[in-house]
Amino acid sequence: MGESSSDGPPRVLLKLSGEALCEAGGHGVEPGALTSIVEELATAAKQGSQIGIVVGGGNFLRGATLSSSSIDRTSADAMGMMGTIMNGLALESALKNADVPVQLFSAIQVGTVVHPYGQRECEAALARGEVVILAGGTGHPFFTTDTCASLRAVQIGAGRLLKGTKVDGVYSADPKKDPTATRYSELSYQDVLAQGLQVMDATAVAMCMEYQLPVMVFDMFKKGNLSRALLGEPIGTVVS
Ligand code: UDP
Repeated sequence: MGESSSDGPPRVLLKLSGEALCEAGGHGVEPGALTSIVEELATAAKQGSQIGIVVGGGNFLRGATLSSSSIDRTSADAMGMMGTIMNGLALESALKNADVPVQLFSAIQVGTVVHPYGQRECEAALARGEVVILAGGTGHPFFTTDTCASLRAVQIGAGRLLKGTKVDGVYSADPKKDPTATRYSELSYQDVLAQGLQVMDATAVAMCMEYQLPVMVFDMFKKGNLSRALLGEPIGTVVS
């Protein structure tokens, strides 16, 4: 496991779903969406947060959805992981253009395009104050970037895993369908797993539980929330 930054600047791991990089319900990468994310990352990075980001790829495709009788799951997942690299390249470029120091790594090797992921290199970049983008998922099929986020958070010794979503926390039911749904401010890992609450997939939650890594679920589409979460403000729902 990585070194905890408890004596130094706060180290956090942000799970950024692919959907955050495009318009609602859209596909691919939308420059406007990138710009607002980069502004908030820059604010938090300037104030000393050490930020690792695991990028998803659902704005391109998800392996579980694409796999079929003609496309096997392993190939579909490889395509999904490549989508995360495309997102990583877009985010890296946008951060560079905003003068935010950044380093992109990938768990699957893509020749001259992306540095291969290595824990030491990743931690060194974080310690230099660079935003670190982790693409390519775990490098293995049958996983998601949520699980990758919990794995990397533990590896780099992050104090918190931040999971940005479209809603402002975890609810007892879908608030769009059930008017009696209530939002939790705190939950235990066991509650999430036993009640099947929509936080992250169960593998990811189990890993966070095993390593006692708090997860904060928050609405990252509300302006200012991403930098607030990165700077340690308790917003949304905390699972611990
Ligand atoms: N993926 C994978 N292994 C991993 C991480 C991701 O095979 O370790 C593939 C999988 O097909 C997944 C896709 O990459 O559906 C995109 O990731 P994810 O669905 O987690 O993206 P998000 O929904 O967060 O945008």
